[in-house]
Amino acid sequence: MPPFDIPEGDPFGPHNLPYGVFSPSGSQERTVGVRLGDHVLDAGAAARALGSPHAGLLARPSLDALLAAGRPVWSDVRRAMREWVTTPEHQEALAPCFHPLSTVTLHLPFQVADYVDFYSSEHHARNVGQIFRPDAEDSLTPNWKHLPIGYHGRSGTVVVSGTDVVRPSGQRKAPADAAPVFGPSIRLDIEAEVGFVVGVPSELGSPVPLDGFREHVFGLCLLNDWSARDIQAWEYVPLGPFLGKSFATSVSAWITPLEALEEARVTPPERTHPLLPYLDDSGAGPGGYDLRISVAINGKVVAEPPFSTMYWTAAQQLAQMTVNGASLRTGDLYGSGTVSGPSENQRGSLLELTWNGRDPLELPEGKRTFLEDGDVVTLSAWAPGPDGTRIGLGDVTGRVVPA
Ligand code: MN
Repeated sequence: MPPFDIPEGDPFGPHNLPYGVFSPSGSQERTVGVRLGDHVLDAGAAARALGSPHAGLLARPSLDALLAAGRPVWSDVRRAMREWVTTPEHQEALAPCFHPLSTVTLHLPFQVADYVDFYSSEHHARNVGQIFRPDAEDSLTPNWKHLPIGYHGRSGTVVVSGTDVVRPSGQRKAPADAAPVFGPSIRLDIEAEVGFVVGVPSELGSPVPLDGFREHVFGLCLLNDWSARDIQAWEYVPLGPFLGKSFATSVSAWITPLEALEEARVTPPERTHPLLPYLDDSGAGPGGYDLRISVAINGKVVAEPPFSTMYWTAAQQLAQMTVNGASLRTGDLYGSGTVSGPSENQRGSLLELTWNGRDPLELPEGKRTFLEDGDVVTLSAWAPGPDGTRIGLGDVTGRVVPA
């Protein structure tokens, strides 16, 4: 029977169990699913078949109820599922609850509440600084080592992996141009990022401390922060990103629970500046995650950004986001910022990979500075799991279609 004989070393084995929402073949109905190998387990149907008390949380059209339920429930449900899919006696009862992944439709798995995007890779921030402010004494802005910089984005345009991305139109004006022009972006880019999904809300007026991260955050997924560099460059001073980024943000259909990533926790880079107490994570345990990301354009890998090199951790980002008393809602999503490592082949944006168009990439289809219509961008990643296994993250893919 297919789901129980997944090959050893499958990155979606029973130690992973990411959550998504799917419709079985021929059905419009949405329900919570868990990925096992190349199958999806209908989690609500499985809970019913086995008489589990979790059926009420899982037989739902989205992950929202599960997200709101909190860490003790998340742990219980995960433990139960692990037991379901590894106990041979359950095989017969569960068999009708499995669907081949290739036959289902995957949906955005939760209602995205607020969306924030950070800028937490030092290598990315320095590359961008060198590209846009070549004469500056320091490629980092003076605040960068003191707080994780971010901006509030547009949650309503977060789309699930596989959704086409229409090339955005807008104003652009190169420094040498006399006046702005309007038209489709000619510098459409990607940003390879990791998104964190908030489950448990917080109260208005009450900051979430660093050690509140595991209580509030359910899991993570890959995220592509599509960016129109020409629109962005003309509009962003002095208030920051706006229409150059709000047209689409793609996320994976699979949310990996933090509990699946215990073995992937790593110590972040050494802090070079003393931190204010609310951000000081010295002695807080490893707050980084060792996620090995790949960026592919039309199937060709163009970069392998290492998430372990991120300067600011997800716990610090959460603390920063709420330190003024701003509250969290179930379904809040925050992006890590573009993940770029120290090497040239570890950069998570075309802006950096081509050094703002100066050094085109060679693809089988021809040279690329920024994205062409028809290009398909796919982010994938894995993390070390228990006993030498790998934990696969769900891909996030999107095709650029003409304006
Ligand atoms: Mn971004």
